[in-house]
Formats: sequence, C-alpha cells, structure tokens
Amino acid sequence: MANVERSVPDNAPGDFFIDTTCIDCATCNWVAPSVFGPAQGHSRVRKQPMGRPAEHRARMALVACPVGAIGTREAHDLADARVAFPDPLEGPVHHCGYHARASFGAASYLLVRPEGNVLVDSPRFSGPLVRRIEELGGIDLMFLTHRDDVADHARFAAHFGCTRILHEAERGPRTRDVEWIVSGTDDAEIAPGLTAIVVPGHTRGSMCLLHDDTHLFTGDHLEWDPGERRPHARQEVCWFDWHAQTQSMARLAERRFEWILPGHGHPGRMAADAMSGAMAALVGRMRGH
Ligand code: SF4
Repeated sequence: MANVERSVPDNAPGDFFIDTTCIDCATCNWVAPSVFGPAQGHSRVRKQPMGRPAEHRARMALVACPVGAIGTREAHDLADARVAFPDPLEGPVHHCGYHARASFGAASYLLVRPEGNVLVDSPRFSGPLVRRIEELGGIDLMFLTHRDDVADHARFAAHFGCTRILHEAERGPRTRDVEWIVSGTDDAEIAPGLTAIVVPGHTRGSMCLLHDDTHLFTGDHLEWDPGERRPHARQEVCWFDWHAQTQSMARLAERRFEWILPGHGHPGRMAADAMSGAMAALVGRMRGH
C-alpha cells in the first residue's frame, strides 16, 4: 500500500500520489496518460485527474500497479476499477492489468476468440480478474513469451485448465510442468491465425505471437517508443545476445503486422506498410547504421 510519507517529490500536488516504491515499469503512464508520466528513474503524477473518466483511469492504474506504489489522500471506492480489467484495447485484444512484481510489472493480454481465448504472459492471480476472464469465456491457451514474464502462470493454468506454451530454452524450475514445449527456431502455427515466432536475443528462447497478421505480442523482444512513435529495442535489457536479437528482428521485419503489444511500455500501432518500413529502419539502427 502506498505511503504518502514516501511520496516522490515531483508529484503534482493533490489527491493521487506515487511513492518511492515505484519500480518504473511505466504501466501507469499508458493506462492513465493524462495523469501519470515518467520522471528520473520512477513515475510521477504529472497532473491530477480532471473529471470522472480521468479519475477512473487513474484508479485503474492504481489497481494495475505491480507494487502498490500509487495511493490517494482521499478514500476511493475501487470496485469499478477492479472489474475494469481485462480492458478492451483493440478488437479482440484486452489488457489484463493486475501487473505482477514477479514479472517486473510486465503486461499480459487476453485475446478473445470464438475458437478459444489466449492469455499472453501472466498477470497477478486476483479474484476480480479471474471472474471477469471467466465471463469472457475463460482461457484455452496461455502463450508465455519467455521465462521472465510468467508470474502466476501455474495458478491460471490450474484454475482454467489451459495449455501453456513456452520455448524449451526458457524452461526452468518454475515452468517444468508447461504442457506444450516449442523447440528449434522455426515459426509454428499453434492454432488457426496464431503463429509462434521464435526470436532468440533478449533470452535464448524468446518468442512473439502473431495474430491474424495484425497483432504482434512481443514480450521483451520489441517495444514501442511513444515519443518517437516507432518500434524500439533496448540493448541494456538484452540478457542473452544482441547480435542474435538483431538477426531475429530482421526476420520479424519480413512479417506484416500493425500492432506492437509489448511486455513493457506502451502498445503502439502503425499501418502495416508503414510498420514494415519502421521495422527495417529499426534493424538498421540495431546494426549501428
Ligand atoms: S505502475 Fe506503479 S511501479 Fe509501475 S511506473 Fe506506475 S507507479 Fe511505478
């Protein structure tokens, strides 16, 4: 629970505040961008919410925060915010909120499909979220992009009886019971309209999930830079091999998609042709051109 005594100094004065336990995961910045923004090594309240919609988004950010670093001086009823996740993002894609500290605040997404829903990476296992996912049809498949963003995957799998998918190079003590292990580096159609793309680099067995040549769930392989409005990758968070990540990015750039849905930071969208050009430019930057 956030403590006003530990409030960061650069919060805008008023009801909402962020305290020094913030791990700078940036979730609040894109859940409620009119209220929260980046600062030096943490986030801050840049403007107090004006009006009910902005207040609701700020309360959603409070619920989504992985470490409880967002607080309010006034008492708030959080019931509406707790049941606002999964939050519709675009078409069948929903943002699950309830980010987990164990995943360093990584985002997870629910893809709602008539053929069976897909959970991409794992949020916190929380009662209101679980009940809302039940109402949306449960979970058929759980796609785990890599070992770091698995959080409460075992509890979701036990509750929903879903099949988990992970690359063999990512399997460890916490994921040894995963049901479906992908091997090698070939892309694999895991269901109609769903392709697992193996992208070694950030970790040895990182994978992206492509849905209908439109939505690309990227884990920590590929991000979106909201300032420059372009795809982005960060060498300082490459844990395995930057050269391999660059090669994987070049292969990924041959795919058509419109949406980047990353584990960390803002989702981003471009028309597919523009995205192709922007991905080629990213590969050039990664190669130092
Ligand atoms: S969601 Fe929480 S941990 Fe993440 S940046 Fe905001 S205040 Fe910090």
